[in-house]
Order: sequence, then structure tokens, then C-alpha cells
Amino acid sequence: MTQRWDAVVVGAGFAGAILAERLASQQGKRVVLLERRKHLGGNMYDRPDHTGILVHVYGPHIFRTDSPRVLEYLSQFTEWRAYEHKVLASVDGQLVPVPFNLVSLEKLLPKQKAERLEKKLLARYAYDAKVPVYDLRHHEDAQIRELGEFIFQKIYLNYTVKQWGDRPENLDFATITKRVPVRLSHDDRYFQQQSQGMPKAGYTRLFERMLAHPNIELRLGVDATSVLSLDEASGKILFEGQPFEGTVIYSGALDELFGSRYGELAWRSLRFEVKTVDQDFFQPVAVVNYPNDHEYTRITEFKHLTGQPVRGVTTYCEEYPLAYERRRGHEPYYPIPKAENDAAHRRYLEAAQRFANLIVIGRLAEYRYYDMNDIILRALDQFEKMKG
Ligand code: UDP
Repeated sequence: MTQRWDAVVVGAGFAGAILAERLASQQGKRVVLLERRKHLGGNMYDRPDHTGILVHVYGPHIFRTDSPRVLEYLSQFTEWRAYEHKVLASVDGQLVPVPFNLVSLEKLLPKQKAERLEKKLLARYAYDAKVPVYDLRHHEDAQIRELGEFIFQKIYLNYTVKQWGDRPENLDFATITKRVPVRLSHDDRYFQQQSQGMPKAGYTRLFERMLAHPNIELRLGVDATSVLSLDEASGKILFEGQPFEGTVIYSGALDELFGSRYGELAWRSLRFEVKTVDQDFFQPVAVVNYPNDHEYTRITEFKHLTGQPVRGVTTYCEEYPLAYERRRGHEPYYPIPKAENDAAHRRYLEAAQRFANLIVIGRLAEYRYYDMNDIILRALDQFEKMKG
């Protein structure tokens, strides 16, 4: 029997959308794309609120890459607004750059002490070196160690406990904080990648353009587990009750595909409180972190990201970390970096590998704390592999 589809893709975030787009546009494959939510774009989804300000519904997503390939690929579907992300942390009543840098040091410590430490640091590290806080905390020099401890206490410790619901020593803290190393310069950009920016008309528009191909049928509001099932005995995947011989690309949480048979995977979730106020701007930069105060970790003000010339009103969101509970309808945002969680995920991965035509890809499916750039590269590489 000839089949209607060459590929079933689950999830319309970057992993699923890119593979659907590549298969359709480069190989003329007929693709059905299933997305549980009523919209595409995964967690990149953005939409205008009642004031017209474009809001990132699932938290701030700032695009950055060092890969010309990634930039070139996405640029087919969007123009860019030049934007370099800045983050400040509220510490001891002051707003200081994060990642913690020499400006933060000068702001938070008495002048002479700051100068002395700066000299010491720059005698040991190159200007603009990126140093994990762990290295500073375990430095041979007692004063540098003390500084490392200060930064750990003021910037990382309480933020991490809030964000992950656990103490650093119980997490793979080194890997998490490699994302935001201490920076020995006055450069106050959050990211260092060569290309940084925001899709000019937003992420949703980018995804719409990516998926507007006659070979792609987009089914929104469809839970993949209601139409896909796995027949372990035959190693076949059933789609709408029939054995499916084409490729199945799955970017959802892997435990859900297997009915959680080895237990539910652990995630960290978030809750957002979106607020609109009648003033031009609420805060000086797009994101202000609150490591030590409030229940939220950070506040994002969207106009800084979008550059929209809206006057007299602004929209921001407070971000509250949350213990994930699937039965309450929470969204799984972050895999929690602990060895036992990786091991639990590996069991599902091994089970998935028994299905020859199943490809598992994406932050959720792979249970990895990927950034957008990582996923885009992985999806492009995966397509090359499939071509081969
Ligand atoms: N982090 C922190 N203090 C900060 C910023 C980050 O302790 O002011 C730690 C925290 O554990 C956080 C991790 O670094 O979860 C990664 O931060 P990032 O900003 O990359 O998180 P994302 O934007 O992916 O939520």
C-alpha cells in the first residue's frame, strides 16, 4: 500500500520544524507535522499582546550563533534586528552586569579592594578571560578565593536554588554555570557569539515562513500519542492505526512516547506573570536577574528585545521556577542536570533505538539543556545524515 506521508514529525519547535522544512523543500517529501499546542514555534513562540508589544510567551529567547551555516539557514526565513543582550543582576541594592565582570567588581567592592583584586586577576588570567566561578573559589590565592566565594554567594547560589529547586552540590553545577562564567573584562554583553540578534518580525513569523510549504501539513492541537503507537513486538510504529514505513521524527519528551513505562522524567518548569504598566520603560535592560530577592528569578521587558517604538506603555514578565508536575499541565522547560536523570532518560533512548525508523531529536527528546543554536545545528546535521 502506498502511504500518504513520507515522514511524520512530532513537535513544531526548531528540531521538528527544520527537519520538516528540509525534507519537504530539499527532497520533495510529504510531511505531516503534529504539534500538541495550538501554535507552532515551540518555546520560541511569540505574539503581540493587547498593546501590540511582542511577548515571548515561554520566556525570553535571544538568538546567537558562531555558525555561518546556522545564520544562513535561518536568514532564508527572516530578517534580523541587531540586538546584543544585556543582563543586570540586582545585588545589594545595585544593578551590576551578569555575567559578573570587572564592572560588577568595581561596583560592588570598595575602590581599593577592587583595584587590588583586578590587578591580581589580570596577572594570572588574560584580559577578557572567561573563568568558571568554581576556579575562582578553588584558587591558590586566598584573596581570589574570597572573591570567588563572594561571587558565588551573591550571584549564583540563591539564583540556582530558586531556579533548580536544589542546591548546587546536588546538581551538575559546573556544567550549568559554564553558561555564565565570570568575565575578566568590561564587556557587559551576556553572550559572546559573533552573530546576535532577534528575528525582525518575531519567531512565530519565522516559523510560519519556514513551514509554509505545500508538502507540509501542519496539524496543530494534536497530541502525537493519540495517533502514534509503538509495537515493541514487531519493532513497527503505527500511525493512525497502520504500520508506518516512513521516517518518524520525534521531538517531544521521550517518556511520554513510551507511556512513562520506566517512570516520569524530571523537569524544571516555569510560571510567568506578565504585567503591563503605563510608562516608557520599566527597567534599563531586557533582563534583570534577582538572585537574592523575590520568588522570581528574573524580569524580562520585551520592548528592549523587539525595539518596538511604543510610547507610554511597556510589558514585562516575572519568571517563577516551578516543580514540574505533568498532571497539572505544567510545561517541561529544563532537563535537570543530575546523573540519575540522565540514566533514566538513557533507558528510554535504548528503547527508542529498537525502532529503526524513529529519530529522536531536540531539548525535550534528548533531555539536554540545548540552546537554539545547538538544536538548529543538530537538525541540519541530522538532515545531512538522512540524505546520506
Ligand atoms: N545563574 C546564576 N545567576 C545568574 C544567572 C545564571 O546562578 O544571575 C546560573 C543558574 O544556575 C542558571 C544558570 O546559571 O540556571 C544558567 O543561566 P542562563 O541565563 O543561561 O539560563 P536560561 O536563560 O537558559 O534560563
